[in-house]
Amino acid sequence: MDLFAKCSQDKRAEGFKAMGIFPYFQEIEENRGPEVKIRGKTVIMAGSNNYLGLTRHPEVMAASKRAIDEFGTSCSGSRFLNGNLVLHSALEEELADFLGLESCLAFATGFLTNQGIIPTIVHRDEYLISDKDNHASIVAGTLIAKALAAETRRYQSNNMESLENILAQIPREAPKLIVSDGVFSMSGATVNLPELSRLAKAYDARILIDEAHSLGVLGEGGLGICSHFGLRNGEDVDLVMGTLSKSFASLGGFVAGPKTVIEYIKHNSAAMIFSASMTPASVAAAHAALKIIRREPERVQRLRENADYMRRGFRKLGLQIPNDPTPIIPVIIGDDVKTFQFSHRLLEEGVFVNPVICPAVPQGMQLIRTFFMATHEKHHLDRVLEAFAKVGREFGLIR
Ligand code: PMP
Repeated sequence: MDLFAKCSQDKRAEGFKAMGIFPYFQEIEENRGPEVKIRGKTVIMAGSNNYLGLTRHPEVMAASKRAIDEFGTSCSGSRFLNGNLVLHSALEEELADFLGLESCLAFATGFLTNQGIIPTIVHRDEYLISDKDNHASIVAGTLIAKALAAETRRYQSNNMESLENILAQIPREAPKLIVSDGVFSMSGATVNLPELSRLAKAYDARILIDEAHSLGVLGEGGLGICSHFGLRNGEDVDLVMGTLSKSFASLGGFVAGPKTVIEYIKHNSAAMIFSASMTPASVAAAHAALKIIRREPERVQRLRENADYMRRGFRKLGLQIPNDPTPIIPVIIGDDVKTFQFSHRLLEEGVFVNPVICPAVPQGMQLIRTFFMATHEKHHLDRVLEAFAKVGREFGLIR
């Protein structure tokens, strides 16, 4: 059989398109942050990781444009060879300073960061212990580490008993890394970091936390998951990974931690050495966003207030939603087709959300994922609630 035969046999997307409810790859014609234009119609964006709404901040846009004027549109190579700008080092130094960690290294994307750092630091006969619900980029890094003969184990999501069972079975002296999302991107749940950190200390393991959805979101001034729990980077978490594509209004990723470890990753990660560096415009945008986050902690506060407002609003409608203090609020629908129909109706009512179906979530847990931003105004949030009230009644989710 021809290798490509399976491609024309895969009709899942076609089926949903024929029903007129396929929700992915929507073309956005204008992006104003909390509002976007799709097929000529302005809708409320409740499905974006632009948490602090900085992608259209004048300072961020100006810094990005200036960087193009000074350095052009691309670095045309990897950091290792010709693509290392003063801009990269300046961003890394300020990120390390913000996080209170010794050193930082920026990659082209967050996905590449996880995929690149995990196999670089966990080797043959060393142990990688990963939460079952970790992001796909952690899974990608884990698979590479496994192919290179690292020992890999998975524990039930955020279940510290399951983690301890695994730790207890590993030889005590074996080098080990526990890796977890700080905030799980599908459910918005926060990792039980106090217990995870206690276990890591008890079993001599190192910790890597993916802070894609917690930096600029949780903790004092958006400092992240450690600060949220009253813990400290460097003492309770060894390595902090982050993306620059969410609160930082750009594109890129980074890892921060002890200088010796960051230097080791810098000189040994294939994802660093064989991939072109972040573009000048991306580095400058992220750095400008970081400066704004540090200068204006009220943006993080506003994001929290908006997320709290929505949690209260959803509950008032009678929807069951989790308690986690994050701007990711999922509404469980429990069926693929219904989830797509629901999001399609929301879009008709002027609200853009993320439908999440199997296998991204288990069968029965298909959900509508909403994200909120610091720049949503009350009238945006109320319109989202009105649309959920109307569509929720149509689907019998609200009585
Ligand atoms: N980790 C997590 C938890 C994420 O949600 C994402 C992005 N969805 C990434 C890593 C990858 O980040 P990037 O978009 O920068 O590739």
